[in-house]
Amino acid sequence: MATRTVSLIPGDGIGPEVTDSVRAVIEALDVGIEWEVVEAGEKVIEKEGTPLPEYVLESIRRNKVALKGPLTTPVGTGFRSVNVALRKELDLYANIRPSQSLPGIDLPYKDIDIIVFRENTEDLYAGVEHMVGRNAAESIKVITREGCERICRMAFEQSVAMGRRRITVVHKANIMKFTDGMFRDIFYEISRDYENRFEEIDDRIVDNMAMQLVIRPNEYDVLVCPNLYGDILSDLCAGLVGGLGVAPGANVGDGIALFEPVHGSAPKYAGQNRANPLATLLSAKNMLIYMGLQEDAERMQRAINEALASEKTRTRDLGGTAGTKEFTQAIIDNLR
Ligand code: NAD
Repeated sequence: MATRTVSLIPGDGIGPEVTDSVRAVIEALDVGIEWEVVEAGEKVIEKEGTPLPEYVLESIRRNKVALKGPLTTPVGTGFRSVNVALRKELDLYANIRPSQSLPGIDLPYKDIDIIVFRENTEDLYAGVEHMVGRNAAESIKVITREGCERICRMAFEQSVAMGRRRITVVHKANIMKFTDGMFRDIFYEISRDYENRFEEIDDRIVDNMAMQLVIRPNEYDVLVCPNLYGDILSDLCAGLVGGLGVAPGANVGDGIALFEPVHGSAPKYAGQNRANPLATLLSAKNMLIYMGLQEDAERMQRAINEALASEKTRTRDLGGTAGTKEFTQAIIDNLR
């Protein structure tokens, strides 16, 4: 079996516990992954003078695939978000957020299977913001042809590869005719290369989209969004399947990908065997698919589903009684 090296950033707070869970499950899967552990965040600032040392970026650039635990970002003061810096430095222009219903989580919504492709670098997140005098402030929304083309192209390509049936672009082009209008138009331009590959290629205005996702989420499949709408709607979709504790994410560029849970470092649960590692495990499962290890990813998902089905092996945030370690062990036992 060929061995592949993957960069691993354990992260802050509950990060080391949830990434330890992944390491144990991946080892039990026996898929030939070797971890190159590189620390970032709070714990390296004093020694390195920065929360994102160059060796972290070098490791990810070399290995092309990385898994990351959550990193703490101080509010108001201190260093800027390492998460944002990683996306910028590595040009990870797509944030891919799947939301799929899981067994053992009692919710009003069933059989949800939605993937959000969120543009990760432009829009109001470009950071072009300033005061105009003392009593007004402006934030500039930046949308470029290149930015739209690459996220839309990736969404179409990956959706075809996954055999998805419907792809929907989300916008507010009725009001923002230039910026959102460009995003929508480029989506339809690119869609011409994929016309026969989907049952439906369509668009929704973002406010209507939010309502549709609440009243008939099962009709939707793949959503392609500019940065801000993607941020909000992907959290809405995570809510349909159990919240941030179960939400995996991936930041993807050309030939490079960083997988991470959507939740933060939950410092109040750090070191208590309380954290739910599911979002990080599902991120790692998607990493296996990205690496071409589809069958192993399916085996891992089956073992996770079995562990989720019983209250004894589910974590407490999901109404169970297990800790991080017991849930992890149950998954490993299910792999045998
Ligand atoms: P959070 O996601 O850490 O916590 C929100 C709530 O969910 C808390 O009640 C927490 O205890 C609970 N929670 C989160 N993950 C859980 C898990 N796996 N198992 C059980 N419970 C879980 O969000 P926050 O409190 O706003 O942020 C804490 C820190 O994390 C901040 O410094 C923030 O900047 C950082 N953060 C990092 C990332 C990232 O690294 N991608 C994302 C979001 C927040």
